[in-house]
Amino acid sequence: MMHNYRPVWAEVDLRALKHNLNVIKKYTTSEIMPIVKANAYGHGVVEVVKILKNEGIKRFGVAFLEEALELRKHFSDITLMVIGPTLAQYSEILVREDIIPEICQLKQAEALSAAAVKLNKTARIHIKIDTGMGRIGLREEALEEIKKISKLPGLFLEGIYTHLATADSSDLTFAYQQLAKFDYLYDRLKKAGIAIPLRHAANSPATLRLPESHYELCRPGIVLYGHLPAPGVSEEAGFKPVMSLKARITHIKTINEGQSVGYGRYFIADRPTRVATLPLGYADGLRRGLSNSWEVIIKEKKAPIIGKVCMDQTMIDVTGIENVRLGDEVTVMGNYEYPEISAGQMARVLDTISYEILCGIGPRVPRVYINP
Ligand SMILES: *Cc1c(COP(=O)(O)O)cnc(C)c1O
Repeated sequence: MMHNYRPVWAEVDLRALKHNLNVIKKYTTSEIMPIVKANAYGHGVVEVVKILKNEGIKRFGVAFLEEALELRKHFSDITLMVIGPTLAQYSEILVREDIIPEICQLKQAEALSAAAVKLNKTARIHIKIDTGMGRIGLREEALEEIKKISKLPGLFLEGIYTHLATADSSDLTFAYQQLAKFDYLYDRLKKAGIAIPLRHAANSPATLRLPESHYELCRPGIVLYGHLPAPGVSEEAGFKPVMSLKARITHIKTINEGQSVGYGRYFIADRPTRVATLPLGYADGLRRGLSNSWEVIIKEKKAPIIGKVCMDQTMIDVTGIENVRLGDEVTVMGNYEYPEISAGQMARVLDTISYEILCGIGPRVPRVYINP
């Protein structure tokens, strides 16, 4: 890894991660397959998997083959599943590395079967059913196609799953309709003599609110990292945000009334103002939409971002906060200790969701793990 000379880091609280896993376990007795795609929602996938594995988790879900291969390099003894599509041409890699693909086309299953036969191995597969998400998956009427897939040599049809489009909304009618379609298809497969041991449908909100969706396996993502799938959903659960973003002050000065800060003079001082500069910006995931619109915490006090967030630097107003010095630590985005500046709050300001904020913390920011 590149050596880090600038004082910016994302702190990842492993005790909070474990706490969140234990909270999830209160909601379900089904097996938990944590979703660790996108570098574990920005938290650093290798460390996250190491901790969860120590807590007894055996199976992990990622979005793409390259993410699974990265994990396979570090962990030979976990079950890995790719929950997004993998092109048929990469079937041999899947078989060789023992990675479970999502199957949503007969062609893809045929290629995998051929690879398994050639390598003299059995490839586990999970079939994805589109019951209403409208993204990927065999449509729920694809009984004949699934029958064909189930007869292909070299494959073990271990799982069947679907994804819910509205599990985080106040109205769960559509989610129940999706589950009904899924159940109906599963029953018909069973009657046709196709027994599939694992069914799964539950993302985070469904794990918390829809016990009917738990089946044999749940696939929570965001709540593991301590954030709610939508504002207000299961607030009482007590998840703890795991990541905070921190930096140290690299420059400090006082400007006069009428002087400005940053590009476009977006901030103009209306009084003598003490300005501190932080060495991070939108290239690190501190979004430009936070210009003049966010507060950071220094010495337990709030200090507003002033002017435009730059690519690599951001200015804050520390007027009236005593003894602010070069090198002082600033919390730019808070974990559970500073919920008022959490990723969820940041998402609200930027009109997005906490997922996008967390995934957006850039690769230039080193992850520092605390409370192992
Ligand atoms: C991302 C994803 C999840 C996890 O979703 P959360 O809302 O983060 O819990 C589960 N299943 C699938 C198919 C996904 O793509």
